[in-house]
Amino acid sequence: MTGGRREAGAEPGQHGRVGQAPADVRFVYDPALADYELSPEHPFRPERLELTRTLLEACGVLAEDAYAGVGHLTERELARVHSTAYIDAVKRASQGDGLEEAYAFGLGTGDNPVFARMHEAVLRVCAATVTAVELVATGRARRAASFAGGLHHAQRAKASGFCVYNDLALGIRRAVDEHDMRVAYVDLDVHHGDGVQWLFYDSPSVMTVSLHESGRYLFPGTGHTYETGRGAGRGHAVNMPLEPFTEDASFLEAFDIVVPAALRAFQPDLIVLQAGADMHRNDPLADLSLSLAGMGAAYRRVVGLSETLTGGRLVATGGGGYDPFRTAPRAWALVWAAMTGTELPEAVPEAWRRRWAEVSPVALPERMVDDPSSWEPVPRRDTISSHNRVVAERLMEVLETIWNGSGPAVPDDRAENGEGPT
Ligand SMILES: [Zn+2]
Repeated sequence: MTGGRREAGAEPGQHGRVGQAPADVRFVYDPALADYELSPEHPFRPERLELTRTLLEACGVLAEDAYAGVGHLTERELARVHSTAYIDAVKRASQGDGLEEAYAFGLGTGDNPVFARMHEAVLRVCAATVTAVELVATGRARRAASFAGGLHHAQRAKASGFCVYNDLALGIRRAVDEHDMRVAYVDLDVHHGDGVQWLFYDSPSVMTVSLHESGRYLFPGTGHTYETGRGAGRGHAVNMPLEPFTEDASFLEAFDIVVPAALRAFQPDLIVLQAGADMHRNDPLADLSLSLAGMGAAYRRVVGLSETLTGGRLVATGGGGYDPFRTAPRAWALVWAAMTGTELPEAVPEAWRRRWAEVSPVALPERMVDDPSSWEPVPRRDTISSHNRVVAERLMEVLETIWNGSGPAVPDDRAENGEGPT
């Protein structure tokens, strides 16, 4: 356990309308989670966790008793998700051996460089997310956050998209295998949650729902509406691809058409939220155009669904987010505020800005939520919104047919092409 850290000047109530997080929401944390640094130049920045944690403390919404240490995760449990050959390759590469063999597993690439003690570092991230699931599944917490987690692209035997092991899949496996839960996985990262989707594609116990920039334009190129699950998992994969430059209102409209109906149809016991922060307009690796206001509204909707569907049980992770100083900490502060039912101050606390000003390459934000009305309007806004609406509505037609037991044997991609159903 590492709990009990508190920054000077972070007393609750110091920065406006704030309140203490109730201790039934836990913040899984260990400073060593920052060891998951792929390379010093890599866009995936592990210091996002510390930026987030210190922001929450400065806002007075992270109480000492909310901290939870990271539990132990065995290699045996890791092998429930990843092949032993892959785990062995990761371990050997972590020690500088077998690099040629590791390349066949997606390691040693620009996206996934090999680094010293990689296995130990990513195993710890996975342990953090499994700890969060365990706290909630056993009733020791109502909700829990693992903001170092969210490695949704990792596959059974392959590193991909900055992800080596899939902490989300390990957490979901724990809930399904040990606690007999039905798990709804909601992925709001700008990239399709492909690793989690394929790992549970034929599972009757897991529904994966992903809203993302369309795979026609963005890595990993999947997440089409016609990916709906297989066998006993049919109808349990839900994909809402969005047009580039989608803004808050259209994102939330698509969310409202798709996510509540999907989760209600599935009736989960637990929701796992992957809250990648890369759908924001400032993100350098993708092209959606959300603001923190829209992202916060989406997080509150997910929390609201947990209230009505799972007795409040929710685990949230981080994920993407390549504007590490401005966007990710504020986004995850909004996730935490939604999970704890606390209000954040309107202004970013001065103590936090002072603390990080020297190392931040960009000017730190002054407000907790940015104001999209001051941004240049997005061209083709109406076309983008109406395309998203049509895709969402047709996706639901396809899914409802499957859920009602009369779905086509092989769903097609007409919905996504904006063509009419026949
Ligand atoms: Zn992403």
